[in-house]
Amino acid sequence: MSDEAIDKLIKAGRIAKTVREEAARIVKPGMKLYDLAEHVEKRIKELGGEPAFPTNLSINEVAAHYTPLIGDKLTVPDNAVIKIDIGVHVDGYIADTATTVSFNPVYESLLEATRKALESALAILKPGIRAKDIGYVIESTIERYGYKPIKNLTGHSIDRYIIHSGKSIPNFNDIFSRWKLEDGVYAIEPFATNGVGLVKEGDIATIYSIRKKRGRLTIYEKKLFDRIWSERRTLPFCERWYKDLFSSVDGLRNTIKMLERHGVLISYPILIERGGGVVAQFEHTIIISNDEVIVTTL
Ligand code: MN
Ligand code: MN
Repeated sequence: MSDEAIDKLIKAGRIAKTVREEAARIVKPGMKLYDLAEHVEKRIKELGGEPAFPTNLSINEVAAHYTPLIGDKLTVPDNAVIKIDIGVHVDGYIADTATTVSFNPVYESLLEATRKALESALAILKPGIRAKDIGYVIESTIERYGYKPIKNLTGHSIDRYIIHSGKSIPNFNDIFSRWKLEDGVYAIEPFATNGVGLVKEGDIATIYSIRKKRGRLTIYEKKLFDRIWSERRTLPFCERWYKDLFSSVDGLRNTIKMLERHGVLISYPILIERGGGVVAQFEHTIIISNDEVIVTTL
């Protein structure tokens, strides 16, 4: 990895850490999710980064992939457990980090289990470690607290402009994950729950990305497509970021829907714990380079 790449990864990580900590400090029951997401994304830009994906604000049994819609009235419920998952990129070099805040003391130990799982995983990291061995440490830590890891959510390798670049780091001792972490960028993200330990897709999607360029679009579809492509390439986006482009929200939503129907966009449905359990998540991004491990978001 070049020095320039490492510098930009570290800068993205520092911004992501700062904004994650700020968000965790200001989030309160009654706060609009919309305002929190907009604040996070504004701060990322003020500090010299760009959002690598829309701020994920996922509450209780929703594990991931909720970002507020235009006009979203949702607020942080009393007693909520809220995951704040933040992505920053600097020139395509990505930091991906998450924290969980609980307003219900009952779930403190769930948060503690997940936080410790991530700490324990970071503690055993070294170049050449097998992905399954990270999973083993995560699983055994979470189980020691009496909870379950979510087995169908994983950490992942990261490339420039690509958040999930193909390799998965399991949250359990998965015998099929024998591959070794060599030079590269990775996100490690344990999820724990008091439910069954699996997520399913929900009925709504709030996050999208471009899947392929394709012709034969209407004027409105092309206008939206060109703007997204120029700003995001294949990085994820949400409707909030394009509300100025259409005279009505319905116009924007219909155009997104049509682009999805054409196969130009893919959507990422919200992910919900199958047993309705409450979910906690902590996440850091690491660089492995020259026999060294750097945690960029710590
Ligand atoms: Mn994340
Ligand atoms: Mn991630």
